[in-house]
This record gives sequence, structure tokens and C-alpha cells, in this order.
Amino acid sequence: MVMSSQSVRSDGGDSPFRSAGLADLHLHSVHSDGTESPAEVMRCAFAHGVRTAALTDHDRISGWSEAAGAALGLGMTFLPGMELSMKTELRTLHMLAYLFDPDNAPLRAEADRIRRDRVERAQRMVRRIGKDHHIRWDDVISAAPEGATIGRPHIADALVARGIVSTRGEAFTEILDPGSRYYEPLYAPDPLTAVRLITNAGGVAIAAHPVTSGPESFLSRKEIDELIEAGLGGFEIDHRDNTPDGKAMLQAIADEHDLIVTGASDYHGDGKPNVPGENSTTQEMIARIIERATGTAPRFPDARNIVQRSDDRA
Ligand SMILES: [Zn+2]
Ligand SMILES: [Zn+2]
Repeated sequence: MVMSSQSVRSDGGDSPFRSAGLADLHLHSVHSDGTESPAEVMRCAFAHGVRTAALTDHDRISGWSEAAGAALGLGMTFLPGMELSMKTELRTLHMLAYLFDPDNAPLRAEADRIRRDRVERAQRMVRRIGKDHHIRWDDVISAAPEGATIGRPHIADALVARGIVSTRGEAFTEILDPGSRYYEPLYAPDPLTAVRLITNAGGVAIAAHPVTSGPESFLSRKEIDELIEAGLGGFEIDHRDNTPDGKAMLQAIADEHDLIVTGASDYHGDGKPNVPGENSTTQEMIARIIERATGTAPRFPDARNIVQRSDDRA
């Protein structure tokens, strides 16, 4: 991707945000369902030309300090983030949250509750699957990286390791799909609650991949209007799973309401084809996120560590 001269210029007034290079605001580590440590994720992002990065593990912030340390050491700007689970009656959805106060009690409690239920729900699913297939909870534990919040991806890995299915994808379509008889719903707040929790914690709420092709994750116009009313900051538009029609619709709404729009990879490490920096967020939009947030500050690198664009050959 060629950066225009405008993107190297600071649009944030007095903001120290002047980082050139790609900006990827949606990355996962082993603290949720990624395959790499937070530091490895930052190194991988850097190697792909990313100079501003956010770690957005599902419902969890425990990777922040390691990621920030690695990012700053590489001269990158780091935005603390999280991808909060939420759901409507029919669908599970995700809300990206940036620069919120990590000590905000209501948001912390909700994220803790979702994580606890994710593990208990995984145990319930494994008990159901275990009636028909040779799989136990211990197999799932062995399939998960240390410290991971156990979820369906790890059940999938255990099913593969046991030879019950041949790939993670097959595990999801055959056994872990919401239509499957083994499926158990996950606790999550509704989207309005999610936006309010993030906003009240001083964070910026950006709807993650809101227009993917499956009927499962499509937000209606009415739902979107309600979220904007509740303080939604914007949309993650440039994401590989958003449909072209959906992107055009979101861009029109964003223009109409002057919302933030982002682009990101949703990198998970080895398990998925997504590559850091495959989509990028403009410097102007990052400056707007920083300006809007009041929960915590972005972490800016020491000037000595900043790699100039002419040296971007990592
Ligand atoms: Zn997501
Ligand atoms: Zn994600």
C-alpha cells in the first residue's frame, strides 16, 4: 500500500501522534484466540509495515503491558484496546473498544462475566460432544496455549487432534456451528449496553466487521441508528469479511453522521489467513479516536525508536 503524503502529516493539532506507516487497530494474541504472544504480534505487525497498532483480544486486556512494551521498543505507537462480545436475539456480534479506562468497574465486570461464561459454555459443549465422540475437557486444555481463554477455537483444535474432524474449519461447520445440536449460546451484553459501557469508561466504541456476509452478524439500519444515538464512535469498514455492499452502506452512514471509520486485519496468528496491515486506518481517523477518548492515553514511542519511512524495510 502506498502512503500518501497527507497520511504522514499530523492531523491531530497538538497531539504527539505523528506516526507514519500502516495502522492496524485489530490484532489478537494468545490472551484470547490468537496463536502468538502479545510481543510476537507486535513484532509481526512491525515486520508488515505497521507503525500504529492496537491489541484487541476478546473481552480481555491482560496482554496490554507486554504488547505496549514490545511496540514502543520497536518505535510503534500503541493503542490499548479490546473486542467486546455482544449479542442480539439472533446474532453474536463484536464491538471494538479503544482507550477506555482499564479500571472502570462496570466494563471490567462485564468482560469478566463474558470470559467466565465462555469457559463454562465450552465445558458444556464438550460434555455434549463427548456423548457422541471420544473427546474430554482435558483434550481441550492440552490443545489451548497456556493462559488462553478457552473457547470454541480450542475445542476445534482438540477435535482435530483427536482425528474427529480434519480441520478447524470443518470442526466449526460440522460440530461447533450455532445450528449444531452440540452448540450452547454464549452470554454477552446487547449492543446498546456494550456501547454505553465502553463510552462510560471513556473509550471509543467502533463496531467490528458489522457487515459480513453471513446472516449471523448483520446489523440492521435501525440497530445502527440506535447505537449512534448511544455514542457509537464509528465502524470498522475495511475488514476482509465485510461485503462490498455493506461497506458502501456503512460509509454512507459514516459520512452522514461524521463517524470514525477504520480498517484492520483482525490478525489471529497462524490459524487464519489475515495478515497485519492488510487493511489500514488513516492517520486522521486515529487522531480522532485519540481526541475522543478520555479513559487512557495512547502509548507513544520514544523519538529515538521511531523508524523513519525511508528505513521501512523490516
Ligand atoms: Zn470479531
Ligand atoms: Zn477480532
